[in-house]
Amino acid sequence: MHKLRHSMLSSLFMAAIPGLLIGFMVGHPGWILGLAILIWGIYQSHQFGRLTDWLQFESEKEPPEAGSHWGELFDELSRLQKRHKSREKYLRSVITRFQQSSAALHDAIVIIDRHNNLEWWNKAADRLLGLKASSDRGKPVMNLLRDPRFIRYFKKDNYAEPLQLISPVDPEVQLQYQITKFGQGDHLLVARDITRLMRLEQTRQDFVANASHELRTPLTVIRGYLETFLDQELPRPLVRGLTQMQQQAKRMESLVSDLLLLSRLEASNQISDEQSVQIQNLISQIHESAAELAREKGHSFELELDQEFDLLGQEIELHSAFSNLVYNAVRYTPANGHIKLRWWVDAAGGHFAVTDNGLGIDSIHIPRLTERFYRVDESRSSASGGTGLGLAIVKHVLARHSGQLSIKSKVGHGSTFACHFPNDMVVRARATEDDDDHTESMPA
Ligand code: ADP
Repeated sequence: MHKLRHSMLSSLFMAAIPGLLIGFMVGHPGWILGLAILIWGIYQSHQFGRLTDWLQFESEKEPPEAGSHWGELFDELSRLQKRHKSREKYLRSVITRFQQSSAALHDAIVIIDRHNNLEWWNKAADRLLGLKASSDRGKPVMNLLRDPRFIRYFKKDNYAEPLQLISPVDPEVQLQYQITKFGQGDHLLVARDITRLMRLEQTRQDFVANASHELRTPLTVIRGYLETFLDQELPRPLVRGLTQMQQQAKRMESLVSDLLLLSRLEASNQISDEQSVQIQNLISQIHESAAELAREKGHSFELELDQEFDLLGQEIELHSAFSNLVYNAVRYTPANGHIKLRWWVDAAGGHFAVTDNGLGIDSIHIPRLTERFYRVDESRSSASGGTGLGLAIVKHVLARHSGQLSIKSKVGHGSTFACHFPNDMVVRARATEDDDDHTESMPA
């Protein structure tokens, strides 16, 4: 540009100086200089006109031929134009490839802008979510995907866990939604068809449930015969063998009933009919059985129970989850241990915690404790009579009650297993039998 300006100025001088000289020679320097500058100006405006015509109407073609700085300007603009076009071509090809590859994807991909309106989606989104390119672009996502669970998930703004829902277009199709935030408040929604996966999962669950159910009858028969045999006068080695068989049969029965319970819990991630569960009574019952179990070990118990609040849920399931935690504390605490059971309510919700001063657990095991059959110490767990399914049951029961399990532990010092329930699961306890029958939700 600097060079151009320089060349323009020199062309002006080239016109002015001869004009001035001729002007002096003919005795009218001013007139002739003015005439020369006028001719120069007309030439410049003519070239400028050619330039604008070329830019407006013929920029596809080669630039017009011109002398001096106009030629340089045309060439420079033509070079810029070519560079711009090749870049545009490259970007177009990138967009086309991206659109082709995302169209070929089986997963639905939807881009939602920062105002929560639909911006772009691929073909799979038409098929799986029923979005229509002709009418839905720019519409709020929550007007089109109207399932309240999706709306709650979208608004929650925490997308660490995916959401599973039936497709809005086909009730046979199960979808898994996962949202990722990007840019300035934009969202990328990916919906995967997981129907096949869910069917396989269902088959697995049905198999475990059926196998456990089928094992029950033969086990009852075996246990019955073993009991009858042990009632007889038998030689000592036979009694020892039969007693061990009886213990193992009992263990198998516990395993079968835990497996059955787990497969029932897995069938749905929400409880269907919730009642107000009297938590103080429930914990007191569990405490009584645990104290019986702990008598030989000489454990002491401490109870700290909030009398004012109960919990909404299913009593049998809560009993099973809480008792698993309390019995674990009894089992994994050496003789003369201390176990504390606590139920309290605060601004975050309701909490039940079991604290023991037992063996404790190394932190590397904690993330895996709720996996089925995961044991910190195989020999110790089998000897204690556990099935390896207790904490998996606790996790499922809590998930069905919108709750969470937290585990704090220190090797050699003990552990605290706590169940946390949200505010809307907590209700005021009924003070006496004569009081009003209804339950009242806890204020947030
Ligand atoms: P199990 O039937 O083996 O007790 P769980 O699922 O109930 O199975 O527990 C898994 C593992 O977690 C146990 O094997 C044990 O090693 C550990 N565990 C559970 N509760 C405690 C506790 N209170 N103190 C120490 N370890 C525990």
